[in-house]
Amino acid sequence: MPIITLQLPTVKRKNKSRPQKCRYCHGETFQRWGKVGKPTRDLRVRKIQVYRYRCCSCRRTFRHYPLGVDRADQTQRLRKLAAIYWVLGMSLRSVAIALRPFNVKISHMTVWRDLQEQARLHEKRLYWKKVRVLGVDGAYPLIKGKKPSVLVAVDLGDGKPIAIGKVDESNPHAVRRWLEPLVKRLGVSVIVTDDLASYRTVAEKLGLEHQVCQFHVRRWVGRHLRELRETVPEEWDWVLDEIRDLLAELPIEGSKRLFELWKQIPERRVGQVGARSPLEKLRNLLIRLSEHWDSYRVFDWQKDVPWTNNRTEQAIGRMKMRSRTVRGYKSWPGMHTALLLSGSGVDW
Ligand SMILES: [Zn+2]
Repeated sequence: MPIITLQLPTVKRKNKSRPQKCRYCHGETFQRWGKVGKPTRDLRVRKIQVYRYRCCSCRRTFRHYPLGVDRADQTQRLRKLAAIYWVLGMSLRSVAIALRPFNVKISHMTVWRDLQEQARLHEKRLYWKKVRVLGVDGAYPLIKGKKPSVLVAVDLGDGKPIAIGKVDESNPHAVRRWLEPLVKRLGVSVIVTDDLASYRTVAEKLGLEHQVCQFHVRRWVGRHLRELRETVPEEWDWVLDEIRDLLAELPIEGSKRLFELWKQIPERRVGQVGARSPLEKLRNLLIRLSEHWDSYRVFDWQKDVPWTNNRTEQAIGRMKMRSRTVRGYKSWPGMHTALLLSGSGVDW
């Protein structure tokens, strides 16, 4: 397990420096205008001193807070710590309880607000991130007794989620509407997804390299091969073996070879009706694999592209775990940012 350091904001009791600029008019000279004691909620600091200043230009007064403190009762350190406890798996109520031994009394709704604040800050930082390889996958988290269809985008450079949207992954228009601005902003050049046709369409429309998760491909091709093994005439068994071997090795010439195999299987006779025969199913499989072959092996020539979408699924797993404990709480906007944060781990 990697070593994780919790980066918590520092909290100072006093601010020794004077303000640099007036927050109202950007004036640069001030008069000290008294001081006040302010009680704070924090693990260690119970009270701080705040100096008030008056701007010599606009004559307005303002408080000049020490590091780690602002208008809120809770210090920045406590707010972040509450959110980290939640991300680590505690419920909102448990976080409130866990802080009591430190003489910190906050309600579970305060914890929820702290979480929202951290999530918003996190989202702002994500906005400016650059991502070359993006994993995209659908998820169905349980929210208020419902399971909305959700798309999750993960930076495959560090395995952290970048965005979550309520999007139906089987609808190419919806997927594109959601993905296009994201891809442009992040500077994405490769997406990694499962084998859904909608992703294929969108990757093509947006001019992205597309790696299809090989776990998914092996799963569905394996299923087809088992079925065909039972149904196609035995004389064609060698074709099934060859498909299996090609998928295991993913050679560069695989597409050509599959196409040759496709040509060798007899076509359905004209005028024949009824369900597709096993041999036709085999033909369909061959041509489909041949046409999609390039999207199976992008990882082979682009070293930072993974051959599965595993890390995206792991991030989704972390979010699903969290979504269960906030059920009944809030609406989608709140939920969405909290999920984004929980998928990221604690080092934000
Ligand atoms: Zn001023």
